[in-house]
Amino acid sequence: MKKYKRFKGVNNDKEFFRRPSKTSASLVEAVYRPDKYVNILYSQFKNIIKANSGRKFKYNEKLVIYLSEQFKEFNIVFDYSGHSYNDGKESGINGMTSGSNSLQILIYCSPSIEKLFIDRNFQKLFLKAFKELIGHELIHRSQYIAVKNYHNQNNITRFLTSPKYKTEIGYYADKSELMSYAWQIIEELRFLGAYDFDILDYIRDIKKHPEYKCLVYEEIYLKYYKNTQIINRLIKYIYEYLKGNLDINDVGIK
Ligand SMILES: [Zn+2]
Repeated sequence: MKKYKRFKGVNNDKEFFRRPSKTSASLVEAVYRPDKYVNILYSQFKNIIKANSGRKFKYNEKLVIYLSEQFKEFNIVFDYSGHSYNDGKESGINGMTSGSNSLQILIYCSPSIEKLFIDRNFQKLFLKAFKELIGHELIHRSQYIAVKNYHNQNNITRFLTSPKYKTEIGYYADKSELMSYAWQIIEELRFLGAYDFDILDYIRDIKKHPEYKCLVYEEIYLKYYKNTQIINRLIKYIYEYLKGNLDINDVGIK
């Protein structure tokens, strides 16, 4: 697994965090690491695809019911949207959400989900999107669990539970989203073949790596939050995921 080799080479951490704006934020902060759980779900999905090879469901509604049954123990439910939005046309997944009380993750499937068991190229796109998005939502699930347990624990970071965003891009600045997007940005870049070292290099200066393009990083964070504490925190989380060893706790199976 060449792509996933852990990077060990940075010894100039201070250099990495030298920023134009002053920040009182500490250089390190623990993150929720969903990787083990993501890998369990990812291999479960691969096995399901293998076991159902060539199978065609008459209705997509039936297919999503079948998938929901397979992922019931993980509190993950598949829903059929009937149309495509976001990247749904390509990947079969329009988006995912997670419930702050139910802790249930809901996966919205687009019409192209019908190709799940019959088209190999589609399967790759589907699994890529599944991995990136489910990791993002599992981090939220951990945050929600933390908020639920807030009163019983001392060292927990309090995340916003119902933020009111002033603008559409305000959503991306939410602290809980920053952690999820940090993880997701790393995964997106790894899918493009980036080593951990390349990822840090790209985050520092995208111009040095025209071969990589992470839309949410370039079109949202760099465009709207350059030189702010928002992007500093995002980078801090990215750095912690790649190089750090601080772990709030493992993403538990609930
Ligand atoms: Zn999110």
